[in-house]
Amino acid sequence: MARHKGRGWHGRLLAAALGVTAVAAATSVWTAQADTAGGQQPQARVSAPDARSQDRTVAKVAADIAHASDRGARGVNITIDDGPDPVWTPQVLQLLKDSGVKATFCMVGTQAQAYPNLVKAVVADGHRLCNHTVSHDTTMDTKSEAYQSQQILDAERMITKASGGVRPQYYRAPGGAFTPYSRQLAASRGMRPLGWNVDSKDFEHPGVDTMVATVKSEISNGPTVLFHDAGGDRSQTLAALREILPWLKQQGYSFGFPVR
Ligand SMILES: [Zn+2]
Repeated sequence: MARHKGRGWHGRLLAAALGVTAVAAATSVWTAQADTAGGQQPQARVSAPDARSQDRTVAKVAADIAHASDRGARGVNITIDDGPDPVWTPQVLQLLKDSGVKATFCMVGTQAQAYPNLVKAVVADGHRLCNHTVSHDTTMDTKSEAYQSQQILDAERMITKASGGVRPQYYRAPGGAFTPYSRQLAASRGMRPLGWNVDSKDFEHPGVDTMVATVKSEISNGPTVLFHDAGGDRSQTLAALREILPWLKQQGYSFGFPVR
């Protein structure tokens, strides 16, 4: 899709979202905020879908980029980006259901608005929602704060309306293009900035065997694994998940959600 033109955006921005250096740098800046937000539980449902009218109902979360799993050291967070998509999201949902796996879906606002029934299906299956901005601009870290705000808050509103009132619990910048401002804004709206540790590189169609091998070799890097359910032919993604999910179980991993 046009928004993914140029194959390098994952790699170019990978360091930011992978987060070792980014988190280290961010920790000192945002520790105070993280401390004040620690332990608060989000409200998963709100009565009105207009994000700007809900400020008093949303619990702030930490603003540093999350990578850990709520299942602890042997937890894995499966994250599925760029949908929902009418062709691929139902197939991913069926595969996850058959596998007994819950995942986190990072949705593009316009996609959520176009396919609200898919957003509701994701929620109904027990998965969590993540805000992936309105238009998936991987250069948004170079844009104005007003633009970043619009991209995040409008997507929050679009996803929450499409879901029937279930809010996104995370914010993942397209291509990892986070800024301190966007992380703080998302956190103030109850959306924990979400990175990844393992990129399956499914977007580049490397072949199923390569994707499986990548995840197997890199899962020791951390628990959060990146896949996609939109943006092109995702048949390799489905085939890879069919191999990877049972393998992870055999290795003693359990499936959870990113920490908030
Ligand atoms: Zn994306």
